[in-house]
Parts: sequence; structure tokens; C-alpha cells
Amino acid sequence: MRGLWLLLVLVAAANAERLFVGEQVLRVNVESEEQMQLLQALETQEEWELDFWLHPVSTELPVDIRVPRSSVSAVTEFLSAHGIPYSVIINNLQELLDEEKAEMMENQMKERSTRSFNFGSYHPIETIYSWMDTLVAQHPKLVTKQEIGRSYENRPMYVLKFSTGGNNRPAIWMDTGIHSREWVSQATGVWTANKIATDYGTDASLTSLLNTMDIYMLLLANPDGYAYTHSNDRMWRKTRSKNSGSVCRGVDPNRNWNAGFGGPGASRNPCSDSYHGPSAHSEIEVKNVVDLVRNHGNFKSFISVHAYSQLLMYPYGYSCKSVPHQSELDSVGRAAVQKLTSLYGTRYKVGSICNIIYQASGGSIDWSYDIGIKYSFAFELRDTGRYGFILPANQIIPTASETWLALKHVMEYVRDHPY
Ligand SMILES: [Zn+2]
Repeated sequence: MRGLWLLLVLVAAANAERLFVGEQVLRVNVESEEQMQLLQALETQEEWELDFWLHPVSTELPVDIRVPRSSVSAVTEFLSAHGIPYSVIINNLQELLDEEKAEMMENQMKERSTRSFNFGSYHPIETIYSWMDTLVAQHPKLVTKQEIGRSYENRPMYVLKFSTGGNNRPAIWMDTGIHSREWVSQATGVWTANKIATDYGTDASLTSLLNTMDIYMLLLANPDGYAYTHSNDRMWRKTRSKNSGSVCRGVDPNRNWNAGFGGPGASRNPCSDSYHGPSAHSEIEVKNVVDLVRNHGNFKSFISVHAYSQLLMYPYGYSCKSVPHQSELDSVGRAAVQKLTSLYGTRYKVGSICNIIYQASGGSIDWSYDIGIKYSFAFELRDTGRYGFILPANQIIPTASETWLALKHVMEYVRDHPY
């Protein structure tokens, strides 16, 4: 193990990979409106370079803040001075990242020597892309791989299409990893794609579904961002496009859709992690999906998978008003979550994005709902903050397995309620 750690340090140094030594993640429990306003002021204060994993939005919800080592004492003094209670959930972020990388490297060696793919491990983009070819080769009658376009840095964007035939059948869309640092999302997508392929023909319900509908999966919705989280900055969330007139790169691809674009809950500052971009669909990664979904024209469900917080949400994010199908979406969501919880007891909350987390404009499922895809949902997977974005790999398969029960419920409901 020690040799591996030394190797890690050398690899990191050679790649000029960003280190997070001594960085902490603080959980703040806001008790009053006044305290919340103080935290919201911190959000716009750039000097301390804080990264809000969970934003201050209501006294009901915790706030998680990644704090650079150089700001730890200033921030904790600030919180104490205002009587705002907090706890340290991650004491040294780099330690967790080292463990994560060690696990990946160990796994890579194992996979090479056994010529296998471990669904319970995180993988670099190249491995996921070559695994897709394996899946297609193993299930040629069910699975095809389609390039839907290229990313900003010219990486191919692949959709896996699960289809037993027919012509433009009603379809279910699912994307994972639009926010690149939410690694359990992409890993859950990979596991799920394999699950669908292997269960077809044995699981009666899934089989009947695939006999009338298609499933499309975009496992790496933000490939440049994902590659960058492996090579340079594990905390990268956005795309990697250049912003004219700014040294900061990237647009939040889930603030970039043409649904309340540029409204509340998105930033006009290119350096912000929730920067909405210069215009709706400015990000080629978003545009590629928009074009595919519009050209197809027969999607009945649109599911976008994020992490973390354990939530199942439906539109809207850009407005707190109820959508016309609010009660139906709410009951589908609640039944789905009940299935999810039945496996390991993992607890989820259900609601509209605006009511359950915060007002956020330009999101993908608002866009899909507004173009007529009624069953639009977004997941926030595990956990609730113990590890946040650095969910240990040994939780991938449990997370994917429980999520599958909810996904399957939604898919079956869509199958049984044509419109
Ligand atoms: Zn996200």
C-alpha cells in the first residue's frame, strides 16, 4: 500500500493535479433567517474561495462548505462570532481523495490482470468508453452505441440505445454525470446500463417494457468535465469551455437549458460554479442532447441523475409554482422512493426542485417538461453529506441497486400510462 501511495504522489505531482491538503468540509446548521443571510453573503465573497457543496437556502436544510486550508480559521471564527453552529464533516479532503485514488489504481491493476470490469469501482473516461463497446458486443441485438456529437474538447458523446426493434418507439431518456464531480452518478449509470442489458429476457417486467419502448442512456453527459476531474481537479463541476472576457472556464451545464434561462438560482459570473453561460444551449454538450431529443420527438420520460442529498425531484426549478401534473408526478415519485428505501432503508425526500432544494433556472428537466415530456425527474443520489461528492467506491453498487428499484418503478409507470 505504501508503494502505491508514493506512486500516487508522484503521479499527482507530474500532472500538476490540484491538491486539497488541509481543506475541510464544514456542515452548517442554519437556525434563523438572519444566519442564512450571513451565509448567503459568504457565497458572494470571493476572497475566502469557498465552495458551497450545499447552498444556504432554508433553515430546514444543512449547508456544506468546502473551505481551503488558508480560510479555515477565518471561516470558523466568523461562524463562532455569529453563533452559527457547525461541525467538521471532512477534516482533510486530500486524505479522502488519496484513498479514492489508491482504490482506483488498485482496481485498475486487478482489472488488467483479470481482464474484467468492476462495477464497484470508479473509472476514467477511456475505461468507460471501452466498456461500452464490450456491452454492445455482448448484447448486439439489444444495445447499440450512437455518437450524438462531440464535446467542447472534441470528445465523442455516446448514447447507449436499448431497443428490441420498431420504428421510433416511445422512449425513456436517462443521463448521468452532467455535473462531473458527482462521480456516483456516472458509476450508477454504468451499473444500470449493464443491469438493463443482462436482465432483458429474464426480468419479465423489464422485458415487456423493452418490447414496446426504447431506453436511451447518456452515461457521460459532461465528458470534458469528467476527464478533468481525473486529471486536474476532482472538484470540477462545469463544462470546460472558454468564457470570453474571463480567465475562468466552464459553464454549469445544468443552468444552461432553455427553461427560465438566466433567472434566479443561476449566476452571471463566469467564475461561479453555477454560471449559466452566455446563452441558452451555448454548451455543445447540452445542445447535442437538445438536438437528439427534439429530433427523436417521442420521449415520454426524461431522467437526469445527480449527487448528493438523496432526493427525487420533478419540475419546476425555475419557478416555485406547481406544474399541471404536480400531483401525479409527486405520487409516482413517492412510490418510486418507497421501492428504493425497501432495499437498504436509504431515505429520500420527494418534491419539486424549487420547493425541495432551491429555485434554480435553466435545468434540464424543466426544459424536457416544457417541451412536453411529462415524466421528467431528477435524482440526487447518496449520501446526505458524510462524504458528499467523494462517496467511497464500496457504496457504488448499493447505491445503483437501490436506485434501480426507483428507476424501474418510474419506467413501468411510464409504460403503463401512455400519453
Ligand atoms: Zn448535480
